[in-house]
Amino acid sequence: MVQAFLVKYAEIGIKGKNRYVFEDALVRRIKERLQRCQGDFFVEKEQGRIYIEAKSAFDEDEVIDGLTHVFGIAHICPVVLVEDKTFSHICEQLVEHMREELGDTPFTFKVFAKRSDKNYDMQSPEICMEAGSYILEHMPNASVDVHHPQVKVYVEIRQRAYVYVTSIKGPGGMPVGTADRSMLLLSGGIDSPVAGYMMAKRGVRIEAVYFHAPPYTSDRAKQKVVDLAQLVSEYAGDIKLHIVNFTDIQLYIYEQCPHDELTIIMRRYMMRIAQKIAEERHCLSLITGESVGQVASQTMQSLAATDAVCTIPVFRPLIAFDKNEIIEVAERIHTFETSIQPFEDCCTIFVAKHPVTKPNISKMEESEKQLEEKIDEMVSRAIDEREVVTVRPEM
Ligand code: ATP
Ligand code: MG
Repeated sequence: MVQAFLVKYAEIGIKGKNRYVFEDALVRRIKERLQRCQGDFFVEKEQGRIYIEAKSAFDEDEVIDGLTHVFGIAHICPVVLVEDKTFSHICEQLVEHMREELGDTPFTFKVFAKRSDKNYDMQSPEICMEAGSYILEHMPNASVDVHHPQVKVYVEIRQRAYVYVTSIKGPGGMPVGTADRSMLLLSGGIDSPVAGYMMAKRGVRIEAVYFHAPPYTSDRAKQKVVDLAQLVSEYAGDIKLHIVNFTDIQLYIYEQCPHDELTIIMRRYMMRIAQKIAEERHCLSLITGESVGQVASQTMQSLAATDAVCTIPVFRPLIAFDKNEIIEVAERIHTFETSIQPFEDCCTIFVAKHPVTKPNISKMEESEKQLEEKIDEMVSRAIDEREVVTVRPEM
């Protein structure tokens, strides 16, 4: 029976001198995730991998599901621990485990052995050979293939013996918290939750800002964004979501500026406000779900017009993604279903019939002069009066 898990990581293995920083962060993220699983666990880093040992009853599927949400993990191997290291005993346990995992379907295999207990009376090549013949003798569905085995059988002799045959793919990436903090502009659409997920996957700690326009946008539209943030938090960890009331600013822009420029000017104010909140929260960059050419506000010129109001970097991880590629990720991380709920978006309500697609920055700046009288005060008020919600993983 599986009592432990071996976690293998890819990229953080190559981080040189700072490797321990990444390993320690991964251990913390794993412990946090396991706290939400039934059972007690002991987690320890060891020679470029992490061992998790269950100290009480647990649900194997729940643990595996939890670990597939922890960035930094390349593979998860459920392990059987063999207390009595007598070789025949190890082989018995191994075959029992293989029967459980593989059933009676035919498979090819190769044994890999590792012996860190140097007092053990067999050496690695002998362990491989003997375990291999034991498997062949006791499992009629098994055959050896040393070049392309379907099943890699691992036998490790340490303080105790470890055997494992299954390797489940983890989510990859870097542990959250190893790459500073960033402010995600999160709308209720399909793209921005995916953009947040992708940056979190690189180890970035995410906060989010949502602009709503009550009563033009409803509470249900807002709830949808809270729900999306929660779904992203299943991977990214706790997310502080800043909800900014954008109504007055939007109406003011609508009153004062040419209507074909509304979308871009609104987006420039969203970026300005997001940046101010980012700075207050020690976020070093902004993230959006934009992708070149997707809509009028995502031409090269429009992106330049929104970039122009930012002094911190704006990351757009989806910039070269097709819509269907974005949807694939959204489906995989379970945000798609929520994103497609049909609620109004604050940008779509005030949008002009024929928005400019090639905005000229100096012309925008000229139009924004019409806002001089009240805009600074409106921006400050919107920031001061924002609502802050912290969402947490539930699984
Ligand atoms: P999404 O699917 O992410 O909503 P979209 O295709 O609808 O994207 P736009 O509406 O042009 O595209 O928005 C582009 C980006 O601007 C979004 O991905 C998001 O990062 C940000 N954004 C748009 N509207 C809002 C909003 N109301 N609050 C916060 N961010 C927003
Ligand atoms: Mg949108």
